[in-house]
Amino acid sequence: MDSWTQAVRGVAIESGAALVGFAPMSRFAAAPPECHPHTIFPQARTAIAIALPQARGTLKAVEEGCYWQSYNCDSYWYLNEVEAPRILRRIVLFLEEHGCTSVPVHNPFHPHTGRQIRDDQPAGPDGILSLRVLGVAAGLGELGMSKVFLTPEFGPRQRVFGVLTDAELEPTPLFRGRICDECGQCVRACEAGAIGRERSVRFTIEDREFAHAPLDCRACGIVHRGDDPRYSPFWNGREEEGAKPSYNQFCKDRFRHLAVCVGRGCLRACLDHLEKTGRIRAQFRTPLIEGPRWKLDEAPPRKGS
Ligand code: SF4
Ligand code: SF4
Repeated sequence: MDSWTQAVRGVAIESGAALVGFAPMSRFAAAPPECHPHTIFPQARTAIAIALPQARGTLKAVEEGCYWQSYNCDSYWYLNEVEAPRILRRIVLFLEEHGCTSVPVHNPFHPHTGRQIRDDQPAGPDGILSLRVLGVAAGLGELGMSKVFLTPEFGPRQRVFGVLTDAELEPTPLFRGRICDECGQCVRACEAGAIGRERSVRFTIEDREFAHAPLDCRACGIVHRGDDPRYSPFWNGREEEGAKPSYNQFCKDRFRHLAVCVGRGCLRACLDHLEKTGRIRAQFRTPLIEGPRWKLDEAPPRKGS
């Protein structure tokens, strides 16, 4: 790695990034035009990906059926809105001190809601970039059958963020290994039935093909947000007609993020499988899944009616 790229990487690591990779724009040649990095920064020459791990204990506490708010706070709100912006800003300021204009790319997105103002753009602002594809393009890992981004360090247990810069940085080689073994645990444990059974969605970067199964985002979203009373423990039967659980509002008010499924299939079942089969590096003394998993399957009876 050249010394300039090494210096940028050093700033990212010292600031708290666990993984860092660099993708030249040529790796996005086959990207849909509306998801190209140039929809955010037309002059970008390099896309930098950083990955921050989700604390495993936040997943374990949900897996045990005990405690959801550490995931919503630490691994959702804090990573998205505190830790990532801080680290991205450090990287951006370092690059800009060296004359390289750089745009931090946070999560979440609210893309293409504005009017088109440039002829060379496929849609209006805001532009968008798939952060999971960015992680792949920057050599950090691959997509699993579930469409979740997997790394050899953490499996599915991280979030990816980006910096688009006009700096020329040395590309990180693409990830050549295979993490997903198509075990199907994600498919079977997803209560929304949102994950397809075959990795039929394919894309190629340089000479490597990546693939995932089709994902029904609408079906996922209902279970992910805890809107289906059959699968969320936060419905207790005391909700007013047409109202949602008080916990959902608490999470949105307090953490601005709401996850109730917390990846029963695509995150927790996958992580457990990858840990137990030794397909990722991080190992822990307490298994993520021990014995039968909690499962509700029906809505609670309405109380007081
Ligand atoms: S659970 Fe199995 S099939 Fe699904 S993404 Fe993980 S390794 Fe691949
Ligand atoms: S978040 Fe939950 S509902 Fe959505 S795909 Fe993952 S396991 Fe299925």
